[in-house]
Amino acid sequence: MQLYNNLSAEERAGLIDEAGKQRLTLSFYAYAKIEDPKSFRDALFLAWNPLEILGRIYVAKEGINAQLSLPADNFYEFKKVIEEYDFMRGIRLNIAVEHDDHSFLKLTVKVRNKIVADGLNDESFDVTDIGVHLKAEEFNSLLNDPNTVVVDMRNHYESEIGHFKGAITPDVDTFRESLPIIENQLAAHKEDKNLLMYCTGGIRCEKASAFFKHKGFKNVYQLEGGIIEYTRQINAEKLESKFIGKNFVFDHRLGERITNDIVSQCHQCGKPCDNHTNCANDACHLLFLQCDECRDSMEGCCSSECLDVINLPLVEQIQLRKGLDKGNMVFKKGKSKDLKFKKSGALPDAALAVFKKPRNIRQRISEKKVLIGKGEHYYTKSKIALFLIEQNELKVGDRIIVSGPTTGNQELILDQMYVNGKLANIANPGDKITMNLPFKVRNSDKLFKIIQ
Ligand SMILES: [Zn+2]
Ligand SMILES: [Zn+2]
Repeated sequence: MQLYNNLSAEERAGLIDEAGKQRLTLSFYAYAKIEDPKSFRDALFLAWNPLEILGRIYVAKEGINAQLSLPADNFYEFKKVIEEYDFMRGIRLNIAVEHDDHSFLKLTVKVRNKIVADGLNDESFDVTDIGVHLKAEEFNSLLNDPNTVVVDMRNHYESEIGHFKGAITPDVDTFRESLPIIENQLAAHKEDKNLLMYCTGGIRCEKASAFFKHKGFKNVYQLEGGIIEYTRQINAEKLESKFIGKNFVFDHRLGERITNDIVSQCHQCGKPCDNHTNCANDACHLLFLQCDECRDSMEGCCSSECLDVINLPLVEQIQLRKGLDKGNMVFKKGKSKDLKFKKSGALPDAALAVFKKPRNIRQRISEKKVLIGKGEHYYTKSKIALFLIEQNELKVGDRIIVSGPTTGNQELILDQMYVNGKLANIANPGDKITMNLPFKVRNSDKLFKIIQ
């Protein structure tokens, strides 16, 4: 009986591309009393693994918190599984605004003490006495009330790229830090103001609203389903979005665009930018904002130190990494003295720039990605990538994509290549080709060509 994931992220990404099925990304949570989280966990894994569900799911005695992706075709099978449990019957599934087939590359279902690390002793207050849930329209109208304070319950790197206009955006790394900070900041207004709170999908506000009521706040409200559900309602009901910018998400996408306002800056050059990335130095992996130009000149690194490291031979890099604890650094808190334009705390309420889609949608639909082969080596010093051609023909002049979980989707025109060591214009299955690429190619990155 397979109870754990046994494919690497690269292998999984390859399988997803080959299957070519459209995937949905979604999240949900439920507070409930679960007597035996371990057997609940195993039952979910056994039911979901065959449905090709991937994601990060936490279960605890207090409930379930799930973020996942699945083939759209398996949606009803998936729903059937969750409807077998009383406490999940009819719960809201927050479907992502933007989809990416690679949003998750593993299925992990973990038993935790809590489904959200809130640092609270749940015995000390009534966790079921929560704030009033508001729909998007109600939330908008309460935002207009001068007696309202709106608080972002998320962390600094989340609110930096997008938030509600006028929101208090605490400069915190974690949810548990934010609770006492907000309580202190608003201590004088426990009775006279409306405390309006929001988070990504609603789960953090469930606990926070009960906590603030317990602390004496009289008028506590929360955005039902968080920014994700707010956006769905805004679009469905053609309402004005008072949220500006991007919604940070905890998967490979790192954010989904809600409005075209860019409210943050590239941390390296200060240009308007809201693209999060993780430093290309695997030993660093710092989460930060980087524009395309800085990505090219810094090769995806956060600092010149990291740039030096990634240009060392691989053996030396691995040597340097030894002894470093890399566990769970993907969302490392994104603060470093090298990032001169990092903002946290008070954030701008006006757009610094307007996002423009890179290419029109009609063009995208008529295009098809065809798998050609896979990456076999990258010579860091000379910036040469070696690929094995596995299927189809590749020609100089083709538009190609190099794609992988860390590499992302790098698109370019093939202007020159060596086929089996000789300069040539055409390569066929079985050939080994090399080309100059300004970015690092990982083993088993996929090589695609785009056809119209
Ligand atoms: Zn920049
Ligand atoms: Zn770095």
